Amino acid sequence: MSTYALNFGAGPAKIPQAVLLKAQKEFLNVHGTGMSVMELSHRSKPFGAILEKTKKDLTELMKIPSNYTILFMQGGATTEFASVFYNLVATKQQELKQAGKEGEEIVVDYLVTGAWSSKAAQEAERLIPTVIGNPVRVNRAVNVKQSNGKFGVIPPASEWKLTDAKKHNVAYVYYCDNETVHGVEFQSIPQIDASVPLVTDVSSNFLSRPIDVSKFGIVYGGAQKNLGPAGVTIVVVRNDLLVDLNVGPIRPLMLDFKTAADNDSMYNTPPTFAIYMVGLTLEWLKEQGGLDGIQKANNRKSEKLYKVIDDSKIYTSPVAKDCRSHMNVVFNLTTEELEKEFLKGAEEKNMHQLKGHRSVGGVRASIYNALPEEDLTTPFPYFFSCKRDDF
Ligand code: PMP
Repeated sequence: MSTYALNFGAGPAKIPQAVLLKAQKEFLNVHGTGMSVMELSHRSKPFGAILEKTKKDLTELMKIPSNYTILFMQGGATTEFASVFYNLVATKQQELKQAGKEGEEIVVDYLVTGAWSSKAAQEAERLIPTVIGNPVRVNRAVNVKQSNGKFGVIPPASEWKLTDAKKHNVAYVYYCDNETVHGVEFQSIPQIDASVPLVTDVSSNFLSRPIDVSKFGIVYGGAQKNLGPAGVTIVVVRNDLLVDLNVGPIRPLMLDFKTAADNDSMYNTPPTFAIYMVGLTLEWLKEQGGLDGIQKANNRKSEKLYKVIDDSKIYTSPVAKDCRSHMNVVFNLTTEELEKEFLKGAEEKNMHQLKGHRSVGGVRASIYNALPEEDLTTPFPYFFSCKRDDF
């Protein structure tokens, strides 16, 4: 195989070549310590400097307001399904207690637009019996598969069945900004009652475009698509949502945001190497013109691919035009045999990890920040061909 693969993997995914080279250069001696970053104590000065610089760069890139805290968590984005639920139910329980409304029902709203928001809603539902003191209900304000038969659309906001926060105790509204499996992406931030914390999972479109953090209670995502290797999940949380561990549901210490915040993400040993790699990726991102710059490149890449799909007789997109992902371009060929042939031919042409998620099949080209525009152009005759003869 060639030493450089055209990597369309959905995650763990491509890391910018420049970042890998920098990590390679510093592998045995990071910042003049004579040690690998993996050998440094997380409480050492050099690692502290890496952590601080990473937070500073993330704050700058995302324009994170000063009333938010950046947390480096573990257990993947999947763990955040539980953490979000526990922490925000705790916040609501505290609020209800202070208002003398103990025991009232708490509602959590989910916009289910694909596999990941569906899993998050299921996890919340599963954890309901662990909450003592208030009944909790999960409301799927949007439930695309149920209403549409399959994922691939985001219904207009007028059809969402959000819980009325004036009449009910809504702990949060949750959605997944980019559904990695189904290739569905929100093109704007959902408008909700301003008193309710909005939570978004940006695992697969993190830092791919500018984001107005001030609209959110929590923005979180795993690193292994746009930010670096697997092993760290970044949570940006508004400070007023942090409550003491002894408030609200009994929850594992490692899921508690305030514990993480009070200890600067170092209550226990953080994933130091992953954080270091995120830091290098952020530096690279700044060199690409920050989020405005990368958004332009991402738009060019995705427009190119969708144009080919729409102009073609053999490719079809299962996703409505107004919610197509800029990161995970999902498409089908006319038959499963052709899809197999396409994927086999792609491998032969050095194009890898294009197979759609096992739950949906088809083809998925993940074109994250790190995928250079040339990597779409090089295989152009093959990838973009509409002719059956080409594969
Ligand atoms: N959310 C989204 C949008 C994802 O794409 C993924 C992983 N593909 C997850 C959550 C789960 O992440 P992890 O495997 O790190 O738990």
